[in-house]
Amino acid sequence: MLNIVFFGIQGSGKGTQAVLLEKKHKFDHVSIGDLLREHMADKTELGEKIKKYMLAGELVPDEYIFSLIEDILHPKAHGIIFDGFPRTLRQAKFMEERIPVNYAVYFDLDDETAIKRLTARRVCKNCNRDFNLLLKPPKKEGQCDHCGGELIQRDDDHKEAIVRRIKIFHQRTKPLIEFYEEKDKYIHIDASDPPDKIFQSLVNSIKIEQ
Ligand code: AMP
Repeated sequence: MLNIVFFGIQGSGKGTQAVLLEKKHKFDHVSIGDLLREHMADKTELGEKIKKYMLAGELVPDEYIFSLIEDILHPKAHGIIFDGFPRTLRQAKFMEERIPVNYAVYFDLDDETAIKRLTARRVCKNCNRDFNLLLKPPKKEGQCDHCGGELIQRDDDHKEAIVRRIKIFHQRTKPLIEFYEEKDKYIHIDASDPPDKIFQSLVNSIKIEQ
């Protein structure tokens, strides 16, 4: 059982790699961003409370994040990939107390490339699958390859929110590198490599048998 944290600048491909690991190695993939967006779409009490932070590209306050995490902590046969959690030192410390993290994988990408990728990102309105006009374009313009749904931009993929999210990443999330280095759990990944190369180094670094 391996519990793995994925962190890195928005647009660094954490989600893509988490989906690959989930499919090929039966990990459970928990994307905090997706869970929060589901709450917003379902207009739950939590969804209404977090909306303003999400749309502005701000971090959602820890108390809401911690209650979500408590709900999803259950034992899984092959472990859990935490995609987008923790994002602050306080969250990382909370996690160390609640669930043992085996590896923390940092997806390293420069700001300029991240901004380009985020601006080109499209998601299916219907099934939520990710596309990218630069890296992973849909077969038919504006249409999801899987379900034919309409492809749209995420509400927080507009210029101001992107810049805000990147700034917060440098201030609040990057200190996790040192935190996990000290605990000997840190893995560095060059996120500018092609997805299949990244997957290979990921699998080698976390010593999963193929
Ligand atoms: P993501 O889909 O990972 O890019 O996350 C989208 C948004 O969800 C972020 O900009 C934050 O507003 C919120 N969010 C996701 N994960 C966290 C977290 N660990 N702590 C606080 N806010 C989060």
